[in-house]
Amino acid sequence: MSSKRLNVSFQRREDSTTSHHCCVPQCTASAKFNSVLSFHTFPKDKELEKRWVAKIRRDNFTITNHTRVCSRHFQSTDLIEPPTPAGRRRLKHGAVPVLFQWNNFTLSAPRPGVWQKTERPNTKTSQNKDPPMDVDHDYCSTNVTEPAALDLSLDHNEDLRAEIARLQKQVEEMSISNKFGLERFAASDDDIRFYTRFATHAHLMAFWRQIEPATHKMVRVTRARTASTNEVPHTANATKDLAHRFNIHQSTVSRIITTWVNFLYTVLGAVGIWLSEETVKAHLPDVFQNYSDTQVVLDCTELRCQTPNSLLLQSEVFSSYKSHCTFKGLIGMAPHGAITFVSALYAGSISDKEILKQSGIVSLLKPTMAIMVDKGFLVEDCVPCKIYMPAFLSKRAQLSAPEVRETQSIARLRVHVKRLIRRVKEHKIFSTVIPLSLTGSINQLYTVACLLVNYQNGPIVKAWASKC
Ligand SMILES: [Zn+2]
Repeated sequence: MSSKRLNVSFQRREDSTTSHHCCVPQCTASAKFNSVLSFHTFPKDKELEKRWVAKIRRDNFTITNHTRVCSRHFQSTDLIEPPTPAGRRRLKHGAVPVLFQWNNFTLSAPRPGVWQKTERPNTKTSQNKDPPMDVDHDYCSTNVTEPAALDLSLDHNEDLRAEIARLQKQVEEMSISNKFGLERFAASDDDIRFYTRFATHAHLMAFWRQIEPATHKMVRVTRARTASTNEVPHTANATKDLAHRFNIHQSTVSRIITTWVNFLYTVLGAVGIWLSEETVKAHLPDVFQNYSDTQVVLDCTELRCQTPNSLLLQSEVFSSYKSHCTFKGLIGMAPHGAITFVSALYAGSISDKEILKQSGIVSLLKPTMAIMVDKGFLVEDCVPCKIYMPAFLSKRAQLSAPEVRETQSIARLRVHVKRLIRRVKEHKIFSTVIPLSLTGSINQLYTVACLLVNYQNGPIVKAWASKC
């Protein structure tokens, strides 16, 4: 008999707690999803009920037996905790809900803009009269308002205001020094060089002034357009680092990079970089005097890309590579150090000869020119001009004296091209494995990095400076 009654009461209690919602605006508490909160009915006392309705700010409000206010809105001192865990939390007699979203669930809610009010024209007069108008009513009702006490609290207010002003200034200073941006590094060419690869702040700003007018027409890459590539979970360190520095999501980093790379690819790509024979000759450095017909020094570079999870992204471009996808590009540099040729990127397995043919550089070469290449770059049957190449040791045991000299001097000159290519690869994005999220724009990225070298740097060899 008794067990049956217990059952019934248990049943009822469960019912009563599963379907309740808090009726307070902006409060989403529901008994269905929250067993910590308690849900309280409105008081029987009509006067008290009026005060509840006023406090929760609901006009023309019909209260039923099912209308509840959750325990979040009561001060803890107004709640009577149950003696056993199975019991119900009750309200003290006369308790009124006072804690809400709009007062940040506190009684002494800070009035908005306390520290913005820097002057109080009526302070002097109000000191001797009634409390100032903007003193919170709750505050007044619970505190002594004798003139002496008021003077003290106003003094205290002034102190607090000064303290707030001091702290605000400190916060501003800290946020400037913590902000990662151009403003912070403008004064240091060293830092500008480190972060932008431009020789000085002046170089960078000069470049910016050139491209700035075109930026207004820039097509921005949106989330929608990059959605498919952003789903790939792994991104390389470079984008992660940027995301942390600027406190944005990694996919936002990718979108910004793609936007700017597309833009710069168009803007910089429109500038012809191939130089005429005369121009190249006019800037020829002394070190090239024995090879004065050199039009361009050629080299290949390889970039590593993240390998996609074969289940995620199976495409022909990637399928033939095992560990890392690599891309190969051909770069040409004039003897004085300007980049004058950038090929598209090809699959890493392409031969030197094939990339030369595909790149289109052959059509730019004339019989009066010469190209300088690395040993093993066997392309004599597909270019219409002379080739300077360090001699091979493979066929004969020893090179003749002139051959050795030539090999050494070409090798010395070629060091500069290697340095140039290193400059391209010094771009963070190429020094690590390129993330999948950026492989779609890899050609643009690479080309822009190559083209930017012409704007970013001073002469590669100091001695050449006077020549250009
Ligand atoms: Zn609530």
